[in-house]
Amino acid sequence: MPERLGILGGTFDPPHVAHVVAAVDARAALGLDRVLLVPAGNPWQKEGRVVASAADRLEMVRATCAGVDGLEACDLEVRRPGPTVTADTLEALDAPGRELFLLLGADAVANMGTWRRLDATRSLATVVVVERAGESARPPGEGWRVAHVRIPRLEISSTDLRDRLAAGRPVDGLVPPAVVRVIRRRRLYTAR
Ligand code: ATP
Ligand code: MG
Repeated sequence: MPERLGILGGTFDPPHVAHVVAAVDARAALGLDRVLLVPAGNPWQKEGRVVASAADRLEMVRATCAGVDGLEACDLEVRRPGPTVTADTLEALDAPGRELFLLLGADAVANMGTWRRLDATRSLATVVVVERAGESARPPGEGWRVAHVRIPRLEISSTDLRDRLAAGRPVDGLVPPAVVRVIRRRRLYTAR
């Protein structure tokens, strides 16, 4: 049986519980052996809007995955120099006996037209569109292998969490407790 490997990329600035729900629901729905959470090393599409360092975001992703069945932090993109391109990551993870599933929220799918090396992406992985109630999206063009997974609508975003933290408001319950501890210990997202 081939290994079925899920990949959830993101900025994770910071990671939150909706990321966890997306990963575990996709894993359950598609029978994935593991889902890797892969923080982008250099998210060129968010130039100037990324607040925490790659090392801090990786540490928070590690804290997110600890103790959650089937979730693992992956440091591949953080260690790779240059702009982060998903196809490069898929190529690095591609292996005989392994099938790749690229998990994307509907907003990320809608943005795929801007991606680099889209043809390579299409040939390397099945796109899993993680849809909240009322959402749907398809990758641009033809020939994609696509799966759809419905998850509960959770109105949580990293942008909102950064605003909350900068304003001194709590984020407990919105991010895993272990991530709250990393944020406090490293004094992340406090007002500059
Ligand atoms: P930001 O507000 O900085 O854009 P974000 O909360 O959208 O951050 P990302 O790191 O950009 O988080 O997202 C990583 C992946 O998780 C993307 O595929 C995105 O679509 C998905 N995602 C983010 N938030 C949610 C959510 N609330 N529900 C389901 N999927 C989500
Ligand atoms: Mg986003």
